Amino acid sequence: MDSASPAPLLLWFRQDLRLQDNAALEAALRWQGPIIPVYIWSPEDEGEWAPGEAQQWWLYQALPDLDRSLQKYGSRLILRSGEAERAIPKLVEETGAGAVYWNRRYEPLVTDRDSRIKQDLLERGVKAKSFNSSLLFEPWMVSTGQGKPYQVFTPFWKNVTRGVVAGVVEVELDLLAEQAPEVWPSSLSVDALSLLPDIPWYKGIAEAWTPGEGEAQRLLAHFLQAGGVHYKDQRDIPGKAGTSKLSPYLHFGHIGPRQIWAATVEAGIDQTVGGKVFLKEVGWREFAYHVMFHFPYTIHEPLRSEYKEFPWKAEDAVLKAWQSGKTGYPLVDAGMRQLWKEGWMHNRVRMVVASLLVKHLLHDWKAGAEWFWDTLVDADLASNSLGWQWAGGCGADAAPYFRIFNPVTQGMKFDPDGTYIRSYVPELAKLDVPYIHEPWVAPDTVLRAAGIRLGDDYPLPIVEQKAGRQRALDALAKFKEMTS
Ligand SMILES: Cc1cc2nc3c(=O)[nH]c(=O)nc-3n(C[C@H](O)[C@H](O)[C@H](O)COP(=O)(O)OP(=O)(O)OC[C@H]3O[C@@H](n4cnc5c(N)ncnc54)[C@H](O)[C@@H]3O)c2cc1C
Repeated sequence: MDSASPAPLLLWFRQDLRLQDNAALEAALRWQGPIIPVYIWSPEDEGEWAPGEAQQWWLYQALPDLDRSLQKYGSRLILRSGEAERAIPKLVEETGAGAVYWNRRYEPLVTDRDSRIKQDLLERGVKAKSFNSSLLFEPWMVSTGQGKPYQVFTPFWKNVTRGVVAGVVEVELDLLAEQAPEVWPSSLSVDALSLLPDIPWYKGIAEAWTPGEGEAQRLLAHFLQAGGVHYKDQRDIPGKAGTSKLSPYLHFGHIGPRQIWAATVEAGIDQTVGGKVFLKEVGWREFAYHVMFHFPYTIHEPLRSEYKEFPWKAEDAVLKAWQSGKTGYPLVDAGMRQLWKEGWMHNRVRMVVASLLVKHLLHDWKAGAEWFWDTLVDADLASNSLGWQWAGGCGADAAPYFRIFNPVTQGMKFDPDGTYIRSYVPELAKLDVPYIHEPWVAPDTVLRAAGIRLGDDYPLPIVEQKAGRQRALDALAKFKEMTS
């Protein structure tokens, strides 16, 4: 770099892959010098929770999408790989950067790493600043009356929503072109990041999703216009498109919760029952981050630490049957196959499949969380850990241990005509209600007419419902007795 020219600023993109409502970008535009947007692929920095295969597929699409958006404004995205603690200083040296800006993440390994990077930059005389673009309420903004972190959602949400909800950060994107550097540092191609798996199992995911900021805005607008007010009634019906499907977009930061909040208000539905329940669900994501930040051990151990000692029954064959959607419980199998096919599963069904694994099958919640991690496009350390520990009765605001979902009645209640089951378990498609929810009670003639040989075309239940429930209750009661 010419010493007379102003030092550039590195704008480090992470889980904030958007241009609008991007606080770090907005601040960067006030820097008196060129802006170099950069993304560093550094799975080694995230330990056991490095992005899974479904997320890597997502990134493979999302990074070029961000690059295209930047190019529209005369800029571009530089791709690098390797530990960020090496890659960032290297880029600083290469470019002579005088500042590095980024939006904050909250996963324990990442926050530790970022603090070290910040310290190192400051010692080099480089300005390092981080911003919030991912949460409405950062974890340290709220505490209980006793000054402690929350462990129960309702008082958390009541407290945070008493205050002012942050507005969208306006970004003057037209300024970007003026701040393009004269010389760009070298960039890897997205293919060089080796994000795609050897076995192309992502075909269904590619059909189901279009990663990127534009698609996130389209989905939000569609949801608010079409489904928002009916959200309370439709959100639990997996056979209907009753939820926003914004979770992967929120995870990767193609959209932020400030934008969702503002758009819900603008659509005039924030005070309707549907709108309020929707925003409250967005609040569960905030709560998940609050819990993960204050109890960082919950990313690998239960919040209620006595459950560390719970005698789970880890049977590989059982886990395999669950993973591949062959438990013999149609709603569960539909969910697990939706996950495998599309990289996503409806929230109601996530609760039911998790309950079956952890309760009826007494399998460690962590094995379920790991499978979700690899297969979900929205795999998010805060929400996944919270969701699994909720289902396992060992986390924040968890379902009490005696609440065990019945996979048959859940199907009857939330997929009454079997639409959802039919779309993902084709071998049961010709079965009518109520048998589609419990094929093993169907008379032989009905099964024959539907072309099903149970135990052959479709499995018998992996565990008998009542016996599995009782086994879980007994194990939990015994465990409670031992630990009290
Ligand atoms: C066992 C289990 C594991 C889960 N793992 C994840 C995960 O890895 N990543 C993830 O984003 N969500 C996870 N969830 C939460 C929830 O299932 C998804 O956020 C939701 O299904 C996403 O669909 P949607 O975008 O249509 O949600 P909508 O109903 O439209 O809700 C809007 C947004 O609110 C947030 N949200 C809604 N419900 C929850 C919730 N219970 N917890 C946290 N945030 C919520 C999501 O960001 C979601 O996009 C998990 C739930 C369970 C029970």
